[in-house]
Amino acid sequence: MQTQDTGQPAEDLSETVCRVCGRDDGSLLRDPHGVPQYVICDCCGIESGLGDDHLSKVRETRGYWVSQGAPWDVPKNRPAGWDVLEQLSAVPAEWR
Ligand SMILES: [Zn+2]
Repeated sequence: MQTQDTGQPAEDLSETVCRVCGRDDGSLLRDPHGVPQYVICDCCGIESGLGDDHLSKVRETRGYWVSQGAPWDVPKNRPAGWDVLEQLSAVPAEWR
């Protein structure tokens, strides 16, 4: 039996959760093919596809960002009562 080619990838590789800080505002950071969309996170300021491709770099960037007090790249988008630890718990397991 032949599988039908629907043009869709076998696996959905899209990502909306920031690998560095765990922020998810619904922006597509990687499309269903896993291609980075070069979206700048309004929380930690990382750009998807630039500096978030390797675990060591992601950890280094996160460590530096937290050591600076976890400043928002776009401070006005910071929700009231925002909790950095709560957000970091949303970082995908493979990027912790
Ligand atoms: Zn981020």
